[in-house]
Amino acid sequence: MIVIKCSKCKNKIFKYKKIGKGKVLKCFKDRITRNYDCVVDNDFLKCTCGNIIGSDEGNYYKMNKDNFTYTGRKIKR
Ligand SMILES: [Zn+2]
Repeated sequence: MIVIKCSKCKNKIFKYKKIGKGKVLKCFKDRITRNYDCVVDNDFLKCTCGNIIGSDEGNYYKMNKDNFTYTGRKIKR
């Protein structure tokens, strides 16, 4: 599980089940296990501070790599 955080205000955005190595570029909605302070507005996933974390692409969010950080462990497969 990793926790996606806003790079500006450090608020938690959501908890995500990341599978495999590599960068977090996409977050599939069915692997998001808990939502914290996120707002979906006009197909953008935003933090409550207004920072755009990613864009809504249907079944996943395309992540904006400069606008979030994450902590936690990826699941090895
Ligand atoms: Zn924020």
